[in-house]
Amino acid sequence: MTLFPDMVADGLNTSIIGRAAAKGLLSIETVNIRDYAFNKHSSVDDYPYGGGAGMLMQAEPVYQAYKAVEDKIGRKPRVVYLSPQGKCFSQSLAKEYAREDELVLLCGHYEGIDERVLEEIVTDYVSIGDYVLTGGELPAMVIVDAVSRLVPGVLHNDISAEFESFQENLLEYPQYSRPEVWHDKKVPEILLSGHHANIEKWRREQSILRTALLRPDLLSKAELTEKEKVLAKSVQV
Ligand code: SAM
Repeated sequence: MTLFPDMVADGLNTSIIGRAAAKGLLSIETVNIRDYAFNKHSSVDDYPYGGGAGMLMQAEPVYQAYKAVEDKIGRKPRVVYLSPQGKCFSQSLAKEYAREDELVLLCGHYEGIDERVLEEIVTDYVSIGDYVLTGGELPAMVIVDAVSRLVPGVLHNDISAEFESFQENLLEYPQYSRPEVWHDKKVPEILLSGHHANIEKWRREQSILRTALLRPDLLSKAELTEKEKVLAKSVQV
């Protein structure tokens, strides 16, 4: 639900997500809140009571747009309001949303949306980070992208979503492709060995080292053996 449906549709119509939608693995529909404007000028925003800068999206068009979606789905859906005041979006929330049959994303614009309609229809308040954007469209696209790639069949091979950053609270290990030597830098020997068990062991160690260096906050939530904890400590200051 947005005032700028083209922005969302154009942005999600390409590459992996666009192909998945074309194949029918998922479907992305935009609802133009302006279509539910109740005055002849099609305006959907007004000045905030009590004064202050900017305009606010009015409750009624948002509510009517929501009602149309609810009627179409036939039940009350989960409604995510993109807001810098929400809880921070994460890979685990993406996994949770990927299990939903329907997910409604509500994009604010201007100074946001009249609080009363939010109280009536929103189930989740989600932020994509501690900064303020002009609208909820980019955050909604971030969520659709992260959730869609977890839908079975969307990635070429489901294994590619199996281990990556944030799974098990670790960052992904470094990866290399051809050529074997580039700018005098050689691919780590172990990756050329064909020894799968050793490669797995090396990758796990690299994940731990990388997480210890770059995201020690994550590492504290990861399940590590005693030996792995010692390894992590070796790079932490
Ligand atoms: N006045 C609001 C406040 O201070 O909390 C900010 C409104 S912002 C300019 C306009 C819209 O952009 C919001 O209604 C929200 O939908 C979206 N938005 C801005 N920053 C966001 C963020 N970090 N995460 C998610 N949505 C965001």
